[in-house]
Amino acid sequence: MHIILIGPPGSGKGTQANLLTKLLAVNYIATGDMFREEVAKGTELGKLAKVYMDRGDYVPDEITIDMLLKRLENTPKNGVLLDGFPRTVGQAQALDDALAKRDTAIDKVAYINVSEEELTRRLGGRLICERCRSVYNEATHRSKRTGICDRCGGMLYQREDDRPEAARRRLSVYFQQTTPVLEYYRKQGKLAEVSGEGPIEDVTFALLTAFGAASVLPD
Ligand code: AMP
Repeated sequence: MHIILIGPPGSGKGTQANLLTKLLAVNYIATGDMFREEVAKGTELGKLAKVYMDRGDYVPDEITIDMLLKRLENTPKNGVLLDGFPRTVGQAQALDDALAKRDTAIDKVAYINVSEEELTRRLGGRLICERCRSVYNEATHRSKRTGICDRCGGMLYQREDDRPEAARRRLSVYFQQTTPVLEYYRKQGKLAEVSGEGPIEDVTFALLTAFGAASVLPD
């Protein structure tokens, strides 16, 4: 199973991708996490990517595609869930070409739809655990102790690119560059649209249904 989750920043894409990866027992690739790891390690790629990420811009296609395809080559072939890739039509085409060479293809793409007003509200309040990466939100999902992760006791912080100016830029870049990707997969008959505004478990159920895999849930 090769599936893609697409959603604007703040749509809950990362949260859902983590849940789905466990439920579907597929490999998980998130280009945003890969870039953040490179930044944390201080590599040349990380230094370059950080310039774009901090502004809320996309990292250029050639860098992103190269990194993703290398990871894909080293990923077991039993199936993959892609989170945050592709974000441009160029990336979608490169992915299709690479998969075709492996005699496989994307099965299904789910788009998590959330209104722009709600996205702005969520991004403003988002906090991440520096240790286990759990996501909290001051508006919708607060930690029990301010600034401390419920799960592992790690410190919570606001991502550089969630600060208001970068968050606004990320949303506008997303709507400009990633909306055509939805059209790309709609034309292939692979796109399903799911509302991301309900409770987390409802969104998970809708996504599993879109992927034709609701049977993995316990009764
Ligand atoms: P995310 O965690 O998915 O929101 O990604 C964080 C940041 O990493 C984005 O705002 C971009 O700067 C960069 N990034 C992640 N995935 C991609 C991609 N497929 N294409 C370009 N830039 C990306």
